[in-house]
Parts: sequence; structure tokens; C-alpha cells
Amino acid sequence: MPETDYDVLIIGGGPGGSTAAAYARQQGLRTLLVEKCEFPRFRIGESMLPTTNAILRETGAWPKIQAAGFIPKYGAMFYLANGPAEKEVDFRNSLIPGLESTYQVERAKFDGILLDHARVLGTEVRMSTTVRSLVSDGVGNRVELEDTGGRRMVTARWVLDASGRDNVFTTDQKRALDPPTSAKRMAVYSHFCGVPRPEGRRAGHTIVVRLDDGWFWIIPIDEERTSVGLVTTLDAMKRANVEPAVLFQQAVDRSARLRELMGAATPTMPFHITSDYTYFRRELARERLLLVGDAAGFFDPIFSSGVYVSVWSAQQAVKLIVGADREHRGLTAGERARYTSAIKRHAGVFRRLITMFYDNQSFAVFMCEQVPWNLMPGLTSIVAGHAELTWPLWWRFKVFLCVCRLQHRFHIVPPLEFGPPKAVAPAG
Ligand SMILES: Cc1cc2nc3c(=O)[nH]c(=O)nc-3n(C[C@H](O)[C@H](O)[C@H](O)COP(=O)(O)OP(=O)(O)OC[C@H]3O[C@@H](n4cnc5c(N)ncnc54)[C@H](O)[C@@H]3O)c2cc1C
Repeated sequence: MPETDYDVLIIGGGPGGSTAAAYARQQGLRTLLVEKCEFPRFRIGESMLPTTNAILRETGAWPKIQAAGFIPKYGAMFYLANGPAEKEVDFRNSLIPGLESTYQVERAKFDGILLDHARVLGTEVRMSTTVRSLVSDGVGNRVELEDTGGRRMVTARWVLDASGRDNVFTTDQKRALDPPTSAKRMAVYSHFCGVPRPEGRRAGHTIVVRLDDGWFWIIPIDEERTSVGLVTTLDAMKRANVEPAVLFQQAVDRSARLRELMGAATPTMPFHITSDYTYFRRELARERLLLVGDAAGFFDPIFSSGVYVSVWSAQQAVKLIVGADREHRGLTAGERARYTSAIKRHAGVFRRLITMFYDNQSFAVFMCEQVPWNLMPGLTSIVAGHAELTWPLWWRFKVFLCVCRLQHRFHIVPPLEFGPPKAVAPAG
């Protein structure tokens, strides 16, 4: 086997990359992680799922997260923008034990802790270093890096591309996408002060406010600041033909619930926009190159699945390359296909939840006080991130989705009352 500079090169220092690096170091692999930014850097995606905890426990990062002073998260509240319905998902009611809580995190701080942890385990970390191109074949990878000193080549037997949604460099693997599964959506968001918090356990809940054609998230990220974002369709944005910040404010003004929550809120930074964020690459593994986290694909953030799927795919990817590396070979066609389908199956559970959320009839089933046949504890586990559908979860999820389909014809639960949106007063 040809000698390479590194056993594994990881592109990106987000949660996917840092977790992959930690696992690789636990296996004794010579690991280089390159990150194009300097940390701390802003990232959206602040609400964790409880299933992330176990992965970070395995890498040893969890005690550092626990000690960092993040806001504990015990569940989520779902509201309608103008209607009376509300629903609490409390993780302690989960069918699967061990999913009772996690944290809401400021990503700049969270990502920094995970990256430092990978460094402490022996990862060589190069910041402000960007991968510009990559050639991968059956024996290894040649990777072109750029930093302030210019461009240079390094070689690595394995590359894990955890570069997120940024398409700084492309490969033919990254160009081929699965067909889109939903409408093109966009998010407009910022951090705010002055958003009131509920008392007690609910203080750290994610709040989701469902509009006719979108939704808001409200996520407390520290004692003062709250992350708030509007998700709507690109079509609605085009039709409104106003600045994103104006669209955000108009949506708040039209909702009784949001006026209550956002009446005294002031942004602490300019608005950010992310558009068209639902995609999945067709093929997630080559012989010596695997895609991890958002670099592989990403669905809508409504169920806060992004960071969890990133760290879970990092765990799966390192497991796979360690096995093949011991046998001095690349991944077989079967292993590559299994990696791709395992990640898509896992992410696909969240995709089905997302489809349910955007369908008014199905959402009525989710929101009703007593979900039929006591399916809610199973659903709570899935909402807490347990996408491994063991039998007790699998059948409950199947029955739930079946009830959602039947709801279209038989109105098994009362339909949701969305209530009249308040007209927005013309400017001036
Ligand atoms: C609007 C919105 C809201 C979201 N809300 C949530 C939420 O509440 N909860 C949740 O879990 N997830 C949420 N997500 C998703 C979450 O942000 C991502 O899933 C998560 O950040 C993915 O982690 P990652 O490590 O795969 O990628 P990233 O966190 O994006 O990290 C990738 C890193 O790679 C670096 N990089 C990129 N290109 C290169 C290159 N060529 N060379 C070197 N470095 C490179 C980048 O600088 C970056 O630091 C949300 C996403 C959006 C768009």
C-alpha cells in the first residue's frame, strides 16, 4: 500500500467533522482536520436531540458539553399562529428510556468544544485552510489545500467530507442529487433579546409556531438571547416581493401567538437567510471517500435532526473505514451501498415526520390532545431522535402514519382551526 501523509483527512470542523475526528483518533488513525474558517464562527442549528448525547458520550466530549452552561432542553411546544391548538412533546414521556433531555446550544461555542476535543485526542487541526480540489481513487486521495501560505497537496488513504452545505469544491459525486421531495423553502433568522420564556421545565423547550405556509422556531440559546427564524417557501418570498426582514416582521404581525412572543424582542445581529436547503446526494460513499452530515444531505430543520444526523453519520463512516483499513482495502460496492442506504433510511425517518408536519390533516393528528391508540410515547422517542426504528417504535410510527392518511378521508380527529390571520397595516 502506498505511504500517505495521513490515514484520514477530514474536511470541515462542524459537529460531523469533529466527531469523525474524535472517533478516528480513538482508533489510532493519523488524522488531519482542515477547517476553512477561524473559530468561533456563527452557525445556525442550535437545538439538539437527546440521541446526540450518547454519541458524544462515546467520543468523550459529553462531560465538556455538560459543563459548558448550555440551556437544558426537555422537549418542545407546538402552537398554531392564530388557532387555539397547542401540543407539548415532553421527552420524559418517551417510550425509549435515556432520552429525557439534551441542550440548546450556541453553535459557535458548541462547535468549538467539539473541535478542541478532537484536537486533545491527537487530531492535527488546520484552521483557515480550505480544500480546493480532491482526486480520489481506489488506493487513496490527493487533496489540494489552500491557506495563507498558498496551495499545497497532501495525501490521505481516506477522506471524510464533512464540509456541510458549502460547495467550495465539487466532485461528480456531489453533483448527482436525489430528486427533490418537497417545495423549495427558505429561512430568515436572527438572534433576539427580550423574548419571554415559560417557567420551569418548559423554559428550555423549542417553540414551533405553525403558519399556513411555514413556521417559526424559537430556541433559547443563553440567559439573554433566543434564536428565532421564519421558514417559508421561496414562492411566498417571491410573491411578497419585500426584504426578508420585512417578510419576517409581517409574519409576526399576522399571528396573535407570535405578537405575544415577539412583541418586546430586538435583534442582536443582522438577519441571515438560507435558501433551498433540502437536498440529498445520490451516492454517499466511494472506495476511499465518504460524505458525512450536511455534505451528504439535509432535510428541513423542523425536527432539529441536522446535528444528530451529522454526528451519527460520522460514527457510521469511521466504523466502516476502520474495518476496511484493517484489511488494507477500500470499501466494497456492498459496503458503499449499505452506507448510503443506512444514512438515507435514518434521515428518511425525519423526512416522513417533516412531510407529516406540512400536511394540515396529518398535523391535526399530531396536535390532537390524545393521539389515537396511545401512539404518542413512541412518537416522542422518534421526535427525540430515535430514528433506529426498533419494533415498538416501528409499528407505532406505521400506525401513526396510517392514521394520518385516513384522516384525509374520515376526520378521525377534529381538523385544526387555523384562525383568521390579522391583516398587516400598510406601511406609513
Ligand atoms: C435554517 C436552519 C436551521 C437549522 N436548525 C437546526 C436545529 O435546530 N438543530 C439541528 O440539529 N440542526 C439544525 N440545522 C442543521 C444544522 O445546522 C446542520 O445539520 C449541521 O450544522 C451540520 O453539521 P456538519 O458538521 O455536517 O456541517 P457544518 O456545521 O456546516 O460544518 C461544516 C464545516 O466545514 C467547513 N468547510 C466547508 N467547506 C470547506 C472546505 N472546502 N475546506 C475546509 N472546510 C470547509 C465550514 O466552514 C464548516 O465549519 C439547521 C439548518 C438550517 C439551514
